[in-house]
Order: sequence, then C-alpha cells, then structure tokens
Amino acid sequence: MDITRLSLCEIKALLEKREISVIELVNTYLSAINEKNKLLNAFLHINHECLRQAEISQKRYLEGEIGALEGIPIAIKDNICTVDQPTTCASKILKGYMSPFDAHVIKKLRDAGAILIGKTNMDEFAFGSSTENSAFGPTLNPFDTQRVPGGSSGGSAAAVAANMSPGALGSDTGGSIRQPASFCGVVGLKPSYGRVSRYGLVAFGSSLDQIGPFAKNVKDVALILKVIAGYDECDSTCCDIPVPEYDKEIEKPLERSKITVGIPEEYFEKGLSSQIREKINKILDLLANDGFHIKNITLPHTHYGIPTYYIISTAEASTNLARFDGVKFGYRSKNSDTVYDLYVNSRGEGFGDETKRRIMLGTFVLSAGYYDAYYLKAQKVRTLIIEDFKSAFKAVDFIITPTTPETAFKLGEKAANPLMMYLSDIYTVGANLAGIPGINLPIGFSSDKLPMGMQILAPAFKELDLLRFTYYIEQNLTKE
Ligand code: GLN
Repeated sequence: MDITRLSLCEIKALLEKREISVIELVNTYLSAINEKNKLLNAFLHINHECLRQAEISQKRYLEGEIGALEGIPIAIKDNICTVDQPTTCASKILKGYMSPFDAHVIKKLRDAGAILIGKTNMDEFAFGSSTENSAFGPTLNPFDTQRVPGGSSGGSAAAVAANMSPGALGSDTGGSIRQPASFCGVVGLKPSYGRVSRYGLVAFGSSLDQIGPFAKNVKDVALILKVIAGYDECDSTCCDIPVPEYDKEIEKPLERSKITVGIPEEYFEKGLSSQIREKINKILDLLANDGFHIKNITLPHTHYGIPTYYIISTAEASTNLARFDGVKFGYRSKNSDTVYDLYVNSRGEGFGDETKRRIMLGTFVLSAGYYDAYYLKAQKVRTLIIEDFKSAFKAVDFIITPTTPETAFKLGEKAANPLMMYLSDIYTVGANLAGIPGINLPIGFSSDKLPMGMQILAPAFKELDLLRFTYYIEQNLTKE
C-alpha cells in the first residue's frame, strides 16, 4: 500500500491503530519528497531533522498521550517563521535567514504533535499567482509539468497534490491558498480575517493576510484549522472567539431546506471557462434537487475588486517591505560605500522584479499627491465591497462561485504581462477585502485532464457552517 495516497485522517487512523509507526511514515514522506522534488521544486527546504521529532512522537503514541496531529507531516509555506528551518519567502534577500522565533501557527502545530516536514516554494513575498516569481525557480504543476501550480502558495498546493505531504499551510492575501488549490485539485481554505494568528507570518498586506490549510479533503482541512485557529495576544487583530471541533462537527446532518445558496451574476460573466461553468451549474442542479434553495444575487462592486485589492495590498506591502534594508537581517550588498548605497544596492540586488513593481506601485499610491485619489478612494470602495457581502448574506447562507476563471495556465504564459496575471484572482480577492472565509473544493477535471475548482464563501467566522456545507457537497455531489 502506498501510504502517501491516503488522506490525513486515514493516516491518523493507521497511526492510532499502530498499523504504522511515525518513523515509518515520516521516512516514507521524506523519500517521496526526495524523489519528486527534483522535478516539481515544491520544497525549498526539506527537514531531514524531523526524524528526531518522529521518534519523540512515536514515544507519545506508546505512552498514549497524543496530540490532534500527532506524527502527521505538515509542509509549511516559506513565509511562515520556523526556528529550526530557514524562512526565505522565496527571496534572495532572505536566503538562509533563520527566524529567532516560531510563528503562532507553528507553535500550535508543534503542540499538536505535527511533524514539520519542510518549507514550500512560493512567489517571492507571496506576490503572484503562479509561483514563477520565486527566486529559487518555479514549482511545476503535478498534473502537467508544463503548467504552473498557481500561486503564491504553489509549493504547498503541489506538495499535497503530489502526495509529498498529507497537509500543508499557505497564506492567502488575495487568493493565494484557493487559487493554487484549484489549479492542483486539492482543498484549500482561507479563514476569516482574525480567525488564525498572523504572528510570525512575514507580512504582505496586513489587513488582508490569513494563514490557512491545504489537504486532500474537507475533513483534513477542518482538522488542521482546528489546530491552528484561536486567540493569540501577539496579533492584535486575532479574535478571541472559541474554536469549534471543526473536524467532528462537520459530519452532523444539514437542514437542507433551511439553507439558501447565492449565485452572484458578476462571477459568471464572459471570461469564465465554459467547462468550469457547466460543472458548477451541474452541482447547483444537484443541490436544488437535494432541497437546498438556490438564489441569484448581485455583488455590484465586484468589478472594482482587482483595482481596489492592488492599491491596498501594494500600499501595505511597500511599508511592510521597508524593513529589508540590508542592515538588520538578510542580504547585504557588498558594493556599497555609503549608507544610502547600502539601502539601494541591497534592495536592488536582493528583490526580484515583481517585488520591485509592488513596492513602486504601493509607494506611488501612498505618496502625498496621490493618496486621496488612489489609496483613500480604494479604502472607500473596500467598504462598498464589504457592504455588498453583508447585504448578500442577509438573504443567503453561502455564496458559490468559480475559484478561478480557467484551469492551470502554461509556465511563462502570463509572466510577461502582470495585468493578465493579476486577473487570475478576480474571484478570490473579494473574500480578503471583506475578511470572510472562502474555500476551494475540487470538482473534477477538464477535458485536458486539469483540475477544476469551485469556491464557497460564508459570513465572517462561519467556518464551521462553511466546512459542513462543503463537506456535504464533497461527499454527495462531486463524485462522477
Ligand atoms: N495573486 C495575488 C497577488 O499577486 C494574491 C497573492 C496572495 O494571496 N498572497 O497579490
């Protein structure tokens, strides 16, 4: 039996029944990574040290004192700080950087017994939709190595899809968990803003960023979310709201006739692949047959999502990236005589093109003469987008949309055209601007055998309802 094909919860059951040991399991994954990573480049760092952790974990199984993810390998996006593995954000400027502290989510994973198997590739500082902006080479899509895995958490999505890890963490500022999950045919959840602590996540857009899980199915994602969610005094935007037993509660039956699903017309306009549209329509018919109510709705400010997102996110990124100056940590240019040159050369040599583009854009929209015209205006439009979702959720419980307009594109296809690349997130940025949770559910394959995805959105902090509804669809309606 190839253990790596199993889901996280299936593996957990085998460990609990003592049918495999943690050491065996971790060795199996390490060899899978060693074998596949040369081609896919999903991992930037493989944690060979984790065998020591596996031994400790195995002891806990023998002593009967196990955590919720005891012995389970989890891959970590390389913008989440870990004391025992480098954290590079796939940037030359942080090459070899060792964080002096663990992110809150990492501490939670360690407490739950998880094995941190390695750090995954990404677009530099999470800027991108294809993982091609990594300073350490792109990750390839496991379904077609001519194609991108999506981004920016492309390494985490590919690692789960290629059976190199049963679960992974990513971060999502405008779609970076859901879009790669869709391109790689796995489940990926962006939690509500404030559900998971951002402490130790290298900041991109602080008002938009959230860490979230990837796994093969909804139950696995629910279990990882249960472990990483919850209050943290080190993140002042993290909410003190109880964390449900997501993984157990999702199996409770749904009151189908009481649930209304909204279908926003703006998300099904031209530009959407006809195969994705047809597949979603088929699922909507099945939902209606099962007694759910389906309602056409409108989210009128949807078209302003991308411009609003790219103003607010770049403004925040430009200030967040000011700390990389060649002085305190990271890359320092050797060719500088003055302090000014040190800043300019370290940043000039250390950052990649897309990062520089974002810093320039963000600095521009925040500059004195343009602040009102761009940044302030974008903040006002953000409020309108929030209001769109608020009023929609007065009439519906969930919103169903495509996750992406198309399936995984070819490497290099959009690299020369940033605006085309930015449009990959057209259906995902709304959830970040509004702070609500969103999930990608795989819904089958296109005629050219690429995964297709559907996005489900819910009101803020309704992760349990969202997961339960998504679980229902996964169990009953996505099987051919
Ligand atoms: N692709 C989007 C961007 O380039 C979203 C990135 C993200 O969510 N980190 O900004």
